[in-house]
Parts: sequence; structure tokens; C-alpha cells
Amino acid sequence: MFLNEIFPNKCISCGKKIPFYEFLCIECKEKLFDPSITVLNNTIIYHSSFYEETMKRIVQEFKFREKIHYADFLSKMLLKTYKYFKIDFSNEPEILYIPSIKRHYKIRGYNPVKEIAKNFSKYTGFKINHAISVKKGYNKSQVEANTIEERKKQIKGKFVLVSELEKKDYILIDDVYTTGATIEEVLNILKGKITVITLCKNVKK
Ligand SMILES: [Zn+2]
Repeated sequence: MFLNEIFPNKCISCGKKIPFYEFLCIECKEKLFDPSITVLNNTIIYHSSFYEETMKRIVQEFKFREKIHYADFLSKMLLKTYKYFKIDFSNEPEILYIPSIKRHYKIRGYNPVKEIAKNFSKYTGFKINHAISVKKGYNKSQVEANTIEERKKQIKGKFVLVSELEKKDYILIDDVYTTGATIEEVLNILKGKITVITLCKNVKK
């Protein structure tokens, strides 16, 4: 690659030279995958990684700096997690995702978690279901809440279902798991058997 020799493409984490279409080297990709589980009430939440260093940077750039092409890699992380835990369904599940506030994706031009869900659907063959939506007029900014109670209050009533869900299996996708308040709020309006996979877990220190 002529251009890649003049402007070598480097891994955003370790700086090693990589093909022009990549943003992480193979080793850094491997390192990033660090699966874990959280149990929230009676639901198991699977995580692909932790919200630290490289992952944090990738998520931030993906969500706020228009690196929309990261969606492909991020969906593969979810796929890897899905396979790693051998998550099993009696019937073929549908994919649900947690959308962002309209005003946010109007500015960015895309709805980040939806982009990951679209790619995840492509790799699994599972249908995507757009039933979860942010309630019209919901405009509270996501200023950081200090306690889980504050966060719960902040997010109460944020999501609605725009279409009826059948009682079947669903995989719910989200990006960063912090207090669990968002997932809990969404689980409250869902029916059926829900399996949750998030990209990463934010462990506050
Ligand atoms: Zn690297």
C-alpha cells in the first residue's frame, strides 16, 4: 500500500503499524476482550469488556466523534461474548437496543447503539426490533448522577415501547453499563425473556 507507507496507519492503543482499514492491532483487540457478568435482580447482564483506557477511548470516539465505522468491531465484541458464554435460546431471539435521545442523534447523525445492533443482526442473522424508543419530549440531560437513586430518578419514564412485544426471546443491547439504572428502567417496560449484553462495564473506583 503506497499511501500506507507515506502515512502509516497506527494502532490507537499501542501505536504499532496496522493495515489502513484497521484501528487496533490484533494483540490489542485480543486484550480488549475481557468478558464478565453482572446479575441485576433476576437478569444476567453479560459484558464484553471494561470501560477503561482503550475501550473508553473507542466508545467515546464512536459515540461523540463520528467514528461510526467502529460499530462493526464493537458488534463483533458482542458476538464474541455471546459465543463465549454459550448463550442459548429455545427460539430464535430478536435484537432490541437502547436508543439515545433524538436531539443527540440528530446532532451526530446516527444512533450509536442502533448501529452496533444493526451489525450484530448482520452477523447473527437475528432480526432487529425497533420497539424501544425515548419518550417524546424527554429532554433531561445526562448529567452524571452521584448515586444510583439519583440516576434512577433521572431516567424514570425515559423509555416507551412504540410497538407491542410478543412474549418471546430477546437480546437487549447497550454500550456502557454503569449503575444498571438504564437497563433496569428498560427491563420494566419489556415482556418476554430478556438476555442483556453490553459492550462494557464501568467499574467506578
Ligand atoms: Zn495495538
